Amino acid sequence: MTLMIRFHNTLGGSVEPFVPLHPGEVKLYTCGPTVYDFPHIGNWRAYIFEDLLKRFLLFSGLKVIHIMNITDVDDKTIRGANAKGLTLGEYTRPFIEAFYADRDVLNILPADHYPRATEHIPEMVAIVRTLLDKGYAYEKDGSIYFSIAKFPAYGHLSKINLEDLRPGQRGDSDEYDKESVHDFALWKAKKEGEPSWETPIGPGRPGWHIECSAMSSKYLGPTFDIHCGGVDNIFPHHENEIAQSEAANGVKFVNYWLHCHHLVVNGEKMAKSKGNFYTLNDILAKGYDPREVRFLLLSTHYRKMLNFTFETLEQARAGRNRIRDFLVDLKDVKRDGAASPEVAKLVGKAQAEFVSGLEDDLNISEALAALFGLIKAANVLKDKGKISMADAQALTEFVLSVDKKVLAIEPTDVKLIVDSTTIALTSDNVGLKVDASNDLDSDVQKKVEERQKARAEKNFKLADEIRKELLAQGILLEDTKDGVRWKRVQPPRS
Ligand code: AMP
Ligand code: ZN
Repeated sequence: MTLMIRFHNTLGGSVEPFVPLHPGEVKLYTCGPTVYDFPHIGNWRAYIFEDLLKRFLLFSGLKVIHIMNITDVDDKTIRGANAKGLTLGEYTRPFIEAFYADRDVLNILPADHYPRATEHIPEMVAIVRTLLDKGYAYEKDGSIYFSIAKFPAYGHLSKINLEDLRPGQRGDSDEYDKESVHDFALWKAKKEGEPSWETPIGPGRPGWHIECSAMSSKYLGPTFDIHCGGVDNIFPHHENEIAQSEAANGVKFVNYWLHCHHLVVNGEKMAKSKGNFYTLNDILAKGYDPREVRFLLLSTHYRKMLNFTFETLEQARAGRNRIRDFLVDLKDVKRDGAASPEVAKLVGKAQAEFVSGLEDDLNISEALAALFGLIKAANVLKDKGKISMADAQALTEFVLSVDKKVLAIEPTDVKLIVDSTTIALTSDNVGLKVDASNDLDSDVQKKVEERQKARAEKNFKLADEIRKELLAQGILLEDTKDGVRWKRVQPPRS
């Protein structure tokens, strides 16, 4: 099979044809969360870009082996645990749990394995020993540093200028900017108030960067296909990973480096340290559906900056609803007759453009333009009565298949209440099924009616309370021109 997929490779700085090391199989490593706090939606932008990448590789018939690390020991986790008087394990546990919970809520495919740094100390020590033996690393006051002057390819990924480098300049912190490029710590000497491990290279704890070199090679081998992260990871984290891994193993580390641009708020990177962040929960508490958040994070090309506002979230909601409304309307089609060649042509064109868009460095804008273009053209035909039930089925199948395999925004997970009739839409049955037997449905319906009455009486306070009460049970109400719709959402964490 010849693949047509192209990716922008940070290493070469251009879009390149994607050729996996082993035909039919892709080994993928994505930098995971540093679990010192709850993930924010900037982090989720990175993970959703990686999910789109993985889903598209799977959609293209490739097998994907995906590893994502959990950084549960580094400067930030240690600082946080100490401030709360907890052990590292106690401190990081709720953040790890929240990460998995949000991942599922956002419909992100789980990685094959989530190795934790604290469970891979021997593997890290082994690499540090190799680097010492080969002369790439040196010891100073119990800590061990990587000598970047010994590795001529240093800086190739991030294109940093090494001219000002003074030999022997060292730093102990895990994170620093390009202006202070220096020899970095592979192993940090035991310090009062820090967790440490007794090892053949002395007592201490690992630097952040060595974690990913050790865990990626353990699970994917010394050379693998794709490594991802946000652009903030390029320097120093990924630059240092390359230096450590290639110096130790003597082979190329990664063939394709893919980095997503930041999610920003008012032009500034969303970050814990800046206090300008929203967690997923913050947004769900405002009444948004997680799939709307997913659609927002997905629908801007990964190499473009994404400015987060509630307006853009509203647009994502409208876009997702447009897909849903299309599916609902198709169910109204009652005309018998053969499938029309015109509709088949439209579907074929949309399918081809959807795929060719994603093949072109995951150009989601082109892929979505193909989908929305189809919806628009099919609606014109439908309004003219030119759509048969067979056409409606072909259109529905196409939309559901690209959603199921790639977008995963589940536009069909919706209940529609029109004139006290509950209409259920499920992925298996995109139909308008009357479902009044379910107790929960009738309870919700009763509440909806109470709220409608309150609104009619202009008692907006009560109406709002009912809305919130339902949201706490995971039922989100939406007022539409056709009536009140409700859908099941993740109830906000209190
Ligand atoms: P961290 O938990 O800080 O190690 O980050 C985990 C992942 O989220 C990394 O791939 C980061 O590059 C990415 N990331 C952090 N902040 C943002 C942001 N504002 N926009 C996009 N990606 C981000
Ligand atoms: Zn990493």
